[in-house]
Amino acid sequence: MPEKETIFHKIIRREIPASIVYEDDEVMAFKDKHPKAKTHLLFIAKKESDFVPSINDLDEKTAHVPLLLIRKAQALAKSKGIDGYQLKFHVGKGGGQEVFFLHLHFLSEQKIND
Ligand code: 5GP
Repeated sequence: MPEKETIFHKIIRREIPASIVYEDDEVMAFKDKHPKAKTHLLFIAKKESDFVPSINDLDEKTAHVPLLLIRKAQALAKSKGIDGYQLKFHVGKGGGQEVFFLHLHFLSEQKIND
C-alpha cells in the first residue's frame, strides 16, 4: 500500500462503498459516514496530480484544489436547491482532521433532493 493511501483513495477506486451524490472527471462528492447535519457531504479531487493530504501541504501545483472543491460544492448546492450551507476544511490533527486526503465538508440543515 502506498504511504499516502487513505480510505478516500479506496472510495475513488470503488474498493469500498460510498453513497456518491456527484462525480465528474475532477471531483467526487459522497455522503459522510457519520453525518453532523441533515446533509453532510465530502468533496474530494480525483486526479492523482491534485492529491494533497491537507491544506497545510498546499503548494504551487495544488493551490487550485480548494477552489475547485468550493466551486463544485457551489454548483451542486445550486442544482439541488440548497441555498444555506457551511463549507469546512479540518486542517491537521489539531484541527480535527482524521483523513489525510484533502476534503471539503459540506453541511446543511436543508435536505438534499436525491
Ligand atoms: P476529517 O475529520 O478528516 O476532516 O473528516 C473525515 C470525515 O470522513 C469524517 O467526517 C468521517 O465521518 C468521514 N469518513 C471516514 N471514513 C469514512 C468512510 O469510509 N466513508 C465515508 N462516507 N465517510 C467516512
